[in-house]
Amino acid sequence: MLKITKNGRTIQSNRLADEIMKDVRGQATDSIRQDFEKKLRGFRCPEHGTGATVTVAIDGAFKQGKVTVKTCCDKADEEVRRILN
Ligand SMILES: [Zn+2]
Repeated sequence: MLKITKNGRTIQSNRLADEIMKDVRGQATDSIRQDFEKKLRGFRCPEHGTGATVTVAIDGAFKQGKVTVKTCCDKADEEVRRILN
């Protein structure tokens, strides 16, 4: 089985749909999510026509959060990275 290691995690080939993690700090989750959704509005995977899903999780103790962007494939992942960077 093909295995791909990324950020120290092993991703199996049948779960290639990617996650983009961004660390965020001290912002309300709603404003973070709205910011990302605004940036990714209208995004569609060039191959599958699928949008990206944005989720925000906040660790209460340190108000440190992570934004996860889920895409359908590597190609969509590349596009999302290009948009966010
Ligand atoms: Zn795709």
